[in-house]
Amino acid sequence: MQRLWAPWRLQYVTAADSTPGCFLCVKQAENRDAENLILLRGVRVFALLNLFPYNTGHVLVAPYAHGGDLGALDAEPAMEMTALTQRVVRALGAEYRPDGFNVGMNLGRVAGAGLPDHLHMHIVPRWGGDTNFMTVTGETKVMPETLDQTYARLAARLRAGG
Ligand SMILES: [Zn+2]
Repeated sequence: MQRLWAPWRLQYVTAADSTPGCFLCVKQAENRDAENLILLRGVRVFALLNLFPYNTGHVLVAPYAHGGDLGALDAEPAMEMTALTQRVVRALGAEYRPDGFNVGMNLGRVAGAGLPDHLHMHIVPRWGGDTNFMTVTGETKVMPETLDQTYARLAARLRAGG
């Protein structure tokens, strides 16, 4: 069975985060971006690696402001969220050469949001056959990176203007 977009697979991502309260609010308030895997801080939005990635390079882009209603999001953070999403897609494309991306938001628990009260955009790079991504390309066994390795590569790329 081939499925390109499996939002239910993303549900555990935020639900499994053990930080009490809203982890997006907690992490942005702390002054330890590397440990929190925060890649880049914009004016109204920020980008961070998902702690429980669906794939290598799984990034979240979220407004600083706590809120889960996309319809109520002000134009400025909405536009900046799109702009930063584009920048992350460019950086991931340049750094990892994926074959495609899943980009989207899960609004509400019924839609698969593990953290329905704080908007966040998922950016998931995709490679052909990545459902068995860990096994093979030809004879080569592809090993996923650690989050720290992904963080180092992507933060450098983004901060250089990626
Ligand atoms: Zn929040």
